[in-house]
Amino acid sequence: MRYCEEVGFIIYYGQQKSSFKTDHIMEERMKKDKYLRARGGTARMLDIHCARCAAWVLKYQKDGVGQLLRCYLNRIFAPPETAALQHNPTFREPKDMSNLVCPKCSTVIGTPMRYEDGRLAFRLLKGTYSKKIVKGE
Ligand SMILES: [Zn+2]
Repeated sequence: MRYCEEVGFIIYYGQQKSSFKTDHIMEERMKKDKYLRARGGTARMLDIHCARCAAWVLKYQKDGVGQLLRCYLNRIFAPPETAALQHNPTFREPKDMSNLVCPKCSTVIGTPMRYEDGRLAFRLLKGTYSKKIVKGE
């Protein structure tokens, strides 16, 4: 088990109902910035799955309390190709982005939007996803 001294917490994957045979132990560095502070300073790491086929879609840092309504690009931690969207220089407006879709069954899970603080995000469609808390803080 690895431990990140700077951040001071461990994220532990495993013993989930997934098909993984071995436990997965990873460390994650949650983002601590103005967006997190604006939400009260607490965050949870979530795994988002497709509600239709149960495929894993992404890992997401949810800041603050309340419902998960959207996924900001700069809070997506995995998979790498989705986490990289926040650095895509061609994304200036929501129309530059594609929908967030399930990698397995292609169900549309989110549509592009811009939040009032300027960040690009996916507006999540009700009933298309399920979430599991990986780590709270
Ligand atoms: Zn699916």
